Amino acid sequence: MGKYEKLIEKRVQKILKKLPREPVALAMSGGKDSTYLAYLLDKLGFNYDIIYFYLPIEPHTTKQLQYVQKFSEEYGKKLVICDLRHINILKASKLRKRPICSVCGLVKRYYFNKFARDKGYGVLLTGHNLTDIYRFLLINLAAGTLEYSARNLPINEPKHPRHITLAKPLFFVPESYIRQEMEELGLPYYKEPCPYSRDVKWKAIVSFIEEQSPDILYGSVLHFVNKYSNLFLKEAKFKECSVCGEPTSSEKGICSYCRVFSFLGDKKL
Ligand code: SF4
Ligand code: ZN
Repeated sequence: MGKYEKLIEKRVQKILKKLPREPVALAMSGGKDSTYLAYLLDKLGFNYDIIYFYLPIEPHTTKQLQYVQKFSEEYGKKLVICDLRHINILKASKLRKRPICSVCGLVKRYYFNKFARDKGYGVLLTGHNLTDIYRFLLINLAAGTLEYSARNLPINEPKHPRHITLAKPLFFVPESYIRQEMEELGLPYYKEPCPYSRDVKWKAIVSFIEEQSPDILYGSVLHFVNKYSNLFLKEAKFKECSVCGEPTSSEKGICSYCRVFSFLGDKKL
């Protein structure tokens, strides 16, 4: 194993070692990042099941699912499907005048916690990599919303009894490394981007920087998390949403998911 490969595995292990000893699920999309993470966890002897969050983005998600099924069969992993195809993301996006990705992200965050917890998992892993995290940091820096990045940590611990631990083991692993590893391993994965995928400009900016040196991404994210993220964090008090019972820090007592979906048609909310 090369020096850099060892370093990367150390970064991943450091996060995995801090996780609570509870049943773990991996949110797998069939794309390169979550497939690489699934492979790496297996290689490291880490025990996990797979959850596929089945979004109403056809035929994209059905094709993704085929890759996830193939992986789980070959590696002998338990696969649980969270079927979200009945959720009308497009309608909500139009009615609430919010970008599709913003509504889709809201749905995913809500069900990541709710579905995994209801299935008995205490930890959910996702395949976000260093390049994603750095891009999010730059976007928030430009928009003056660094508090969002401050909440986006390698491990998000529960803040309420109905929360589970959410963790990103590839938080410090650059996308270029994952792509190269996947090519060398020859592992099949779903290559098509989501039809609603945007932020082309930010992707181009970040890949230019990453081509110069992935260490720029690593240093920026590491220092932000260790030295600055605390400055942007406000102590949020969580209570149960008065509509669905899921945890929310909203002062109105209604979670963001219910504000978008429980009252579709009621534009006041
Ligand atoms: Fe959802 Fe597709 Fe946007 Fe990702 S790119 S948040 S899957 S709509
Ligand atoms: Zn709610």
